[in-house]
Amino acid sequence: MSRAKDLLGIRELLQKRRKTTEEAQAGARRELMALKDQERDPEYEEQAQAELADYTLSTLIEAQRREIMLIDAALRRMDTDVFGECVDCGNEISMDRLEAMPFAIRCEEDAALHEQETRDAARHTGSLSL
Ligand SMILES: [Zn+2]
Repeated sequence: MSRAKDLLGIRELLQKRRKTTEEAQAGARRELMALKDQERDPEYEEQAQAELADYTLSTLIEAQRREIMLIDAALRRMDTDVFGECVDCGNEISMDRLEAMPFAIRCEEDAALHEQETRDAARHTGSLSL
């Protein structure tokens, strides 16, 4: 298979994933809302459990939001024809890597370098940098 064809496959995968993530997020939002209604009920006794569920759902929704953001960014890179190009060196990111990590914006080498730099920066500032 050609690279262009492979990229098309990844695009379809991303679009499918965006849809299922959005649907899952809508479900999680509904659950969270139902939970909040329940919490206002003074007879609702399992408060600690509700708080845990609230936290779990909020964390899930946040992760889903980030994933959709990453998918959109990847799709935008496809639209502008830079998807699969390393943002640091401009070389093609290997298909194996893109299939495993469709959100990758760096080649393996630069990703390792970037990670190292991020770790170093985090060590210096004492906090985790994005
Ligand atoms: Zn690179």
